[in-house]
Amino acid sequence: MRTITLSNGTTVEVECLSCALTSGRIEADGGVILETDYFHAHQDVAYPIKGLIIVASKRHIKSFDEFTEAEKVDYMSVLTRLRKAQRQALQIEHVYYFYNEDTTHHFHTWMVPRYDWMYEFGRSVESVRPVLRYARDEMKDTKHVNEVMNAIQLVKAHIHHE
Ligand SMILES: [Zn+2]
Repeated sequence: MRTITLSNGTTVEVECLSCALTSGRIEADGGVILETDYFHAHQDVAYPIKGLIIVASKRHIKSFDEFTEAEKVDYMSVLTRLRKAQRQALQIEHVYYFYNEDTTHHFHTWMVPRYDWMYEFGRSVESVRPVLRYARDEMKDTKHVNEVMNAIQLVKAHIHHE
């Protein structure tokens, strides 16, 4: 078991944070953005960045090569639906995608939007950690958090009106 502190300050004991989120045992702030038979998408609330979405598998697996045929198809569909919503609802022009197989949770992909303010931290992959840290430490005020919550609603509305 691992103890995880949620953004609202409460702590939970979980075997796997991804399992807790995809099963609904824990609800991310802003709720479920998109859920299919195989995947679950929510805002990464640790970082107040509009449209920063995590797509987690429902099965406790670590890696692409464990996907079933149905998961392969559904994964691409989920990513492209979310990407379209990011573009059309939030005007996000570029997104970086990350997934690491040595995670302590299970399979999840980060969809990290690029905003103009991020370029002062550099370009490409080396800028991502400083950008996330900056957002976590400097953008946790009500204004930014409200913007993030509003962005979640815009993305959800887009998804539900496809
Ligand atoms: Zn899991």
